[in-house]
Amino acid sequence: MNNNTTPPRRIVIVGGGSAGWMTVSLLQHAWSQYGTEITLIESADIGTIGVGEGSTPYLKTFFTKLGIEESEWMPACHATYKCGISFPNWSSDPEYNNYFHPFFSPLDLKSGNALFDNCCLRRRGHSADTHPNDFFVSAALARHQLSPIPENKMPFIPDYGYHFDAVLLGEFLKKRAVSLGITYLVGTIDSVAQHDNGDICGLSSTEHGLLTADFFVDCSGFSGLLINKTLKEKFISFKDNLFNDAAVAIPTRIDPKQKLPSETVSTAISNGWMWKIPLMSRYGNGYVYSSEHISAQAAEQELRQHLGESAKGMPARHIKMRVGRVENHWSHNCLAIGLSQGFIEPLEATALMLIQLSIEHFILNYEKGHHANQHRSAYNKHINAFFDGVRDYVVTHYKLNQRNDSEYWLANRNNPHISENLKQLLQVWDNGGDFEALLTKQTNSLVYLRPSWYCILAGMGRFPPKTNANTTKFSATPAYKTRGYCESMAKLFISHQAQLQKIYGSA
Ligand SMILES: Cc1cc2nc3c(=O)[nH]c(=O)nc-3n(C[C@H](O)[C@H](O)[C@H](O)COP(=O)(O)OP(=O)(O)OC[C@H]3O[C@@H](n4cnc5c(N)ncnc54)[C@H](O)[C@@H]3O)c2cc1C
Repeated sequence: MNNNTTPPRRIVIVGGGSAGWMTVSLLQHAWSQYGTEITLIESADIGTIGVGEGSTPYLKTFFTKLGIEESEWMPACHATYKCGISFPNWSSDPEYNNYFHPFFSPLDLKSGNALFDNCCLRRRGHSADTHPNDFFVSAALARHQLSPIPENKMPFIPDYGYHFDAVLLGEFLKKRAVSLGITYLVGTIDSVAQHDNGDICGLSSTEHGLLTADFFVDCSGFSGLLINKTLKEKFISFKDNLFNDAAVAIPTRIDPKQKLPSETVSTAISNGWMWKIPLMSRYGNGYVYSSEHISAQAAEQELRQHLGESAKGMPARHIKMRVGRVENHWSHNCLAIGLSQGFIEPLEATALMLIQLSIEHFILNYEKGHHANQHRSAYNKHINAFFDGVRDYVVTHYKLNQRNDSEYWLANRNNPHISENLKQLLQVWDNGGDFEALLTKQTNSLVYLRPSWYCILAGMGRFPPKTNANTTKFSATPAYKTRGYCESMAKLFISHQAQLQKIYGSA
């Protein structure tokens, strides 16, 4: 901490969803040693969103930072391991009807490089194996329902994320934060008092009167109680880039005799996509769709059809989504975190990662110098770049789709509203240009790194016809070699079921 900086003396957080409890946990960890008092208030009448069951590997660092072991939190949240995401049916071409977006590790260095080199040949019309599923260890782990944990210690292990029950995660973090001394209140904020300069001075509720503080965090969900309604920060919609604005979720029972997958499955269907997430207690399922293209009722019916018998009698939850981000996440003496700051539809399960990054960067910037404008605007620029970078990667899924079965998919493929960065990436890839150089040039704005870009472009079959198939003098690495390597590595890992039993047994 900068010698001239002291953290806020008193912070009030509105909202007790995942965003509120993650914020409490990280702020408490960073600043309670300096005497910062934290209060979290949530409404008994306004529920949490209650979904958000998949993570990126970044969530691991959240628990590590807080010193929370997997054996402590995973059983409490019915959590399982996640090696990556499968994307079936995003193309009608049988060669590309399913690909896997893996989490990477140094174990993939050689085989991953082989994919990059093969793609370079294939982009120029030569013959080469380029299906990403053959090049990454995590893909083999998911294929065989293995965990990302090896039987014996290894110098590197694949990165991995988790699946978990979002409501239980909130409960777990709440219990921990309260036991460590934060003040937890239940009440609905009905008015906000501001100083003449616009800073917030207090939040009023019938239950608790006026709650004052020197800093406020808006974790009030899509309503954006402080950031939008009070401070009037502009919301920038991504509706032109991403059409989906609604979801319907239906849980299904898990068959205890069946092996548990270690992947999320995100299947394209008529007007959006359907997630399937394995938890210890149930499957989380849902359909993310565009309400301009299909009604809520038809979406629920279609989801139930796909889920079959397992969904009979199970309740459906319909959710509206506000997709986009605020222009300034930190405004006056208020920080917006979670759905109040913005949301990119959950195709890559990035929301909790953005929440965590937003809090961590806030702490760093605040410690550099209180409310100094320069740190606040650097912060806002940085967080906007994270949101826009994630948006571009998610948009790519839609832009590259090869489905012709509905207006929705055609409109997505032909959508001209894509960012300049994404336009350049696609142009250079398609023209056989120097893709590596462009990735390097865009490093600061890309959230997804090189392997992810190769996986999506190759996995969706974005290649020209093989015109030089028999004339190449370049040697491509055959897939049987890299697949063989990945399969042999996979043999060193514990089955998902056995690893979960180990973790749950030690709870
Ligand atoms: C369909 C869908 C799928 C998703 N899947 C994923 C995923 O796989 N992975 C992922 O990382 N994220 C996912 N997300 C996002 C994730 O669910 C959210 O980012 C996360 O739960 C954070 O939500 P939140 O805490 O900001 O808001 P909420 O959960 O909506 O919580 C809002 C809180 O604010 C309180 N509140 C509101 N108004 C007031 C008031 N006036 N007074 C007092 N309290 C108030 C409410 O009581 C509540 O406690 C998904 C989201 C959707 C919509």
